[in-house]
Amino acid sequence: MNKEWSEMNKKMQTLIGKESTFAEGVDALIELREVLFEQITSIVNNYPEEAFYKMPFAGAEGYHSKTLVYSMWHIFRIEDIVAHELIAKDRQVLFTGDFQKKTKSPIITTGNELHDEGIASFSRELDTQAVFEYCRAVKSSSDEILRKLTYKDLKRAFTDEDKKRILDSGSVSTNESAVWLIDYWCEKDLKGLLKMPFSRHWIMHIEAMCRITNKLCQKAKKGVDQIAYCGLSCAHCFLKDYCGSCRTAYNTCSYAKCSPDGVCPNAKCCKEKGLDGCYECEDIRECKQGFYSLGKEVHAIKAMSLFISSHGKKELQSVLENLHKKKEFEKIQEVLGDDIDQGLQILEANR
Ligand code: SF4
Ligand code: SF4
Repeated sequence: MNKEWSEMNKKMQTLIGKESTFAEGVDALIELREVLFEQITSIVNNYPEEAFYKMPFAGAEGYHSKTLVYSMWHIFRIEDIVAHELIAKDRQVLFTGDFQKKTKSPIITTGNELHDEGIASFSRELDTQAVFEYCRAVKSSSDEILRKLTYKDLKRAFTDEDKKRILDSGSVSTNESAVWLIDYWCEKDLKGLLKMPFSRHWIMHIEAMCRITNKLCQKAKKGVDQIAYCGLSCAHCFLKDYCGSCRTAYNTCSYAKCSPDGVCPNAKCCKEKGLDGCYECEDIRECKQGFYSLGKEVHAIKAMSLFISSHGKKELQSVLENLHKKKEFEKIQEVLGDDIDQGLQILEANR
């Protein structure tokens, strides 16, 4: 499990367990949910539409065998049902916000009854942005419910009447792979629910979503030029396991992610100028665009670009191989320093 999330989850569980720290525990739970939701937001903002209905682990055992949009639907349908049908005993966000229509979902259930091709075709029908809006609306509504809870509420148990209400709502399929959920929720007290649908269930599915995105990135960059527009080598980059390259739609390089349109300004500029990369540009030394706006911090990358201008991409990759054999390092700046000419000299010396 992601270490940071796991620590936050443990801390939250300890705090909500004692009356004196219960309020702090609710704050910790809401903070954990914020951090996790940021991960979902980052996925929604950084991956192309097709990524949301692909199943790179189809047939595998585990949460990662689903699609991204199915995972989002499933996490928040479960939370919506539990928060509203069971805890608040009012109407679900799906209905009050007319989200079945907005998301174009053919179902109102949690999706547990779907498998393999059923998940894939369901995912293709969904409107990802509308599903994301639904997720956001459920989160905010649940946060309000959580803030109103008291320590005494934790012992609240659920009854057959509660089970019947969920069943009658049609929100859980009567298929054997789904209907067990009703007993599972109703046999817990409220404290048990806080530990699952509102926290751990998110963590497990969001971790699986990260596995899916990483796999999609690896698949996307297969056979693609491994030199980035800025001059970095994807094969030697510390983000290589998470980034699908700036030459594909799966570019999750940090500079692309912090650019408003999700496109790296250097990649954009190269495309506009009809260049293969910044290494073909005569303005490179003075350029302050995008990644290069970091100045000295990225002079090592400019040195690599200039090296490509003189010797080509293959030669740079072979020098990087040599350097990695000689020394353990994460970022090339650790070896080439922050001076363009000094960096070039080091590259030349390692041919
Ligand atoms: S961050 Fe840049 S160099 Fe690294 S893998 Fe992504 S595109 Fe390639
Ligand atoms: S102007 Fe800068 S960003 Fe644009 S191609 Fe030249 S070096 Fe790259």
